[in-house]
Amino acid sequence: MSDSWQTCYIGLGSNLDSPREQVSSALTELTQLPQCRNLKHSSLYRSDPVGPAGQPDYINAVACLETCLSPLHLLDALQGIEQAHQRVRIQHWGPRTLDLDLLLYGDQVIQNQRLTVPHAFMKVRNFVLYPLAEIAPNLSLPDGTQLLILLKDIEIGTLEKI
Ligand code: ATP
Ligand code: MG
Ligand code: MG
Repeated sequence: MSDSWQTCYIGLGSNLDSPREQVSSALTELTQLPQCRNLKHSSLYRSDPVGPAGQPDYINAVACLETCLSPLHLLDALQGIEQAHQRVRIQHWGPRTLDLDLLLYGDQVIQNQRLTVPHAFMKVRNFVLYPLAEIAPNLSLPDGTQLLILLKDIEIGTLEKI
């Protein structure tokens, strides 16, 4: 366990088996994690699938919480929730009941076999940046990049708040 509370951001996504319910129940489950408090979350969004063609649309959201779990213990907890939602990894970027990605962990930069933080693709995904801006408009990344500057380069496109 880390010795202090850290503010973390988590990206949620689902495109199988009632995606809205998957994301809504995952948000509730995040509030029930040990050593985590003060969950806030964005609206839900509908997005076009990335990755293999022919998948259903996604439902996405971003949550913020404070935790004193270490980054890897938090990843374990997130993967536990994915497993509880019968997440099966068949195909890279293929359809899934629930994806929980750790976007940011305080201002830490983490690079190891299991974890890359900030999340490797967060700067270029509209379905991450727009929900994130709803709950943390003044956020800066560990490298100093302001979220509002990133948003200028990433179009909202077909992303829809629902
Ligand atoms: P993407 O990472 O492009 O969003 P994905 O979410 O579909 O793809 P997963 O199958 O959920 O990828 O995860 C694959 C592996 O990524 C996990 O086993 C995990 O160890 C690793 N990983 C690395 N960095 C992170 C992170 N920041 N959050 C969640 N998983 C991560
Ligand atoms: Mg993902
Ligand atoms: Mg993932």
